[in-house]
Amino acid sequence: MSKKQFKAESKRLLDMMINSIYTHKEIFLRELISNASDAIDKLYFRSLTDDSVALKKEDFLIRLTVDKDARTLTVRDNGIGMTKEELEKNLGTIAKSGSLDFKNENETGGKVDVIGQFGVGFYSAFMVASRVTVRSRAFGSDETWEWESTGAEGYTLEPCDAQDVGTEVTLVIKENEGEEHYDEFLDDWRLAEIVKKYSDYIRYPIKMLREKQRAIEGTDKDADGHYKAPEYENYTEDETLNSMVPIWKRDKKEVTSEEYAQFYREKFSDYSEPARVIQSKTEGTATFRALLFVPSRTPFNYYTKEYEKGLQLYSSGVLIMEKCADLLPDYFSFVKGLVDSEDLSLNISREMLQHDGQLKLIKSTLERKIKNELSSWLKNEREEYEKFFKNFGLQLKMGCYASYGTNKELLQDLLLFHSAKQEKLVTLREYYEAMPEEQKYIYYAAGESTERLAKLPAAERVLDKGYDILYLTDDVDEFMLQMLRNYGDKEKEKEFRNISSDDLGIETEAEKEETKARNEENKPLFDAMKDALAGKVVEVRLSQRLKTHPVCLSSSGPLSIEMEKVLNSMPAQPEKVTSEKVLEINGEHEVFAALKRLHDAGDTEKLAAYSEILYAQAQLIEGLSLEDPVAYANSVCKLMV
Ligand code: ADP
Repeated sequence: MSKKQFKAESKRLLDMMINSIYTHKEIFLRELISNASDAIDKLYFRSLTDDSVALKKEDFLIRLTVDKDARTLTVRDNGIGMTKEELEKNLGTIAKSGSLDFKNENETGGKVDVIGQFGVGFYSAFMVASRVTVRSRAFGSDETWEWESTGAEGYTLEPCDAQDVGTEVTLVIKENEGEEHYDEFLDDWRLAEIVKKYSDYIRYPIKMLREKQRAIEGTDKDADGHYKAPEYENYTEDETLNSMVPIWKRDKKEVTSEEYAQFYREKFSDYSEPARVIQSKTEGTATFRALLFVPSRTPFNYYTKEYEKGLQLYSSGVLIMEKCADLLPDYFSFVKGLVDSEDLSLNISREMLQHDGQLKLIKSTLERKIKNELSSWLKNEREEYEKFFKNFGLQLKMGCYASYGTNKELLQDLLLFHSAKQEKLVTLREYYEAMPEEQKYIYYAAGESTERLAKLPAAERVLDKGYDILYLTDDVDEFMLQMLRNYGDKEKEKEFRNISSDDLGIETEAEKEETKARNEENKPLFDAMKDALAGKVVEVRLSQRLKTHPVCLSSSGPLSIEMEKVLNSMPAQPEKVTSEKVLEINGEHEVFAALKRLHDAGDTEKLAAYSEILYAQAQLIEGLSLEDPVAYANSVCKLMV
């Protein structure tokens, strides 16, 4: 009999299993039962449309059999089975390469417990078995094939005596070895306990013949009618080990957070615990249950096109779709979980689902539920919510931006921004409520980092007034605020205003008049500077926002300087955009006096050079790059010698 070799990565995982020192080896049973249940799901699903499936719902089962003398444990199912090719493909190659990649990444750190948290499928059998035999007959086939392996050396695949449709996995349990007691996996009491712990919700009965003892009737009294210890007899009983109630159908008060976490990790391939569990039951126009999870980490491909949103969709307990995207809006695409509806037909097609009214109803109900859950999370567990926001806040903001702000009402109060004054995250509501009476706008500044924004010349003046500034650091932020436009109670909404836009609404009328007059007075100087800058700025003028800095840039059009940066950094941007920049000069600064002197003395050459330098400085402060850094360096050096 010739041995076939495992594919390279399968062999690696197998080695890992065989040599595993993992303490919760019992999970192998969960994995085998879960495979059996999936296989039954497939055949059951088929039976709904295919009359040639003779089995009825109540006929499906998973059976465990123990033979202590032979040291074997068998897990049998009457599910869909596997053909020769499928045995070869499914058991010869590892399916879950995802967990393997993960293992590689962490090999050096080695802290994460891949086996326990992920579940590694069929191969976990090798943690407890010295030999594994799989006999399977696929539905629709009259051949039964036997796959067998003792581990890393490879496997054999041979035809064998016919059996019923389904799969039988037989493990020869390892001998005890030092601390490792494998015998427990031959003990029916222990097996029943493991099934209860990990597989209670499996929807098909998991049966096992159990040895039991009972008192023989009438042996508890002696001949005189006095009570005595009764005599016992052994008997066997075929017991169903699981309650078969899926976790989402149980009363949520009775489900522990560990149970939820285990279910989540197993079903949704995450190795960390969910940050939040939402379980709900809805009755009325749409009757369904939902069990939703908010992950505690951002999936590595979350903000890419590869990420697929969606919930599992069940129809009265039967899985009909693994990932139903139509159940979740994009801005809540991070939510994982399932929906079990009583109103959906079992064999509804994908195309029909999209137009299904029930589904739309479920979607909008879920949307509300998720929103309410996030709101109460934000209100009651701020710290945890901030962690969540770090992971998925960007998605919420993109949701606000997308569809031209239609989702504003739903999402805006879930957002957090860095407050300059409080140096922590605040909601728009918190900002709004802390605004002094006379404050006209909700101020924000956009840039790379909060540290950098804190140094913006324009920030000083606003903060000095006692007004707070929201520091925005995500690319989408400013675009999103433009969609929102304003925030606040009805008829008392306040507009959002970038601190580098030309009108900050801070000056009194008198101050405005004064600046206007001084600008008029210095118009020839400013025109000369504007000419020197040859189209780079639309205006040069005195600033009302500067306190200690000599210059800054502001923008006068709808496009801010930060938006220019963001748009131009996008790979898909075909043409570069430019904001309308204004060079603002601090009238109280000595630099202004120097400029005036040059202009009065008619030194146009030097005035032009100074204008270039000041403009370059203002660009640097804004985080813009200089078109010609060498020229700038040379001009500065010229001043030194
Ligand atoms: P996973 O279950 O995550 O896909 P496994 O390694 O446990 O990974 O199983 C690999 C594949 O082998 C399964 O996807 C399934 O197609 C097949 N398989 C395993 N056990 C059974 C079974 N009892 N009946 C039918 N197919 C099975």
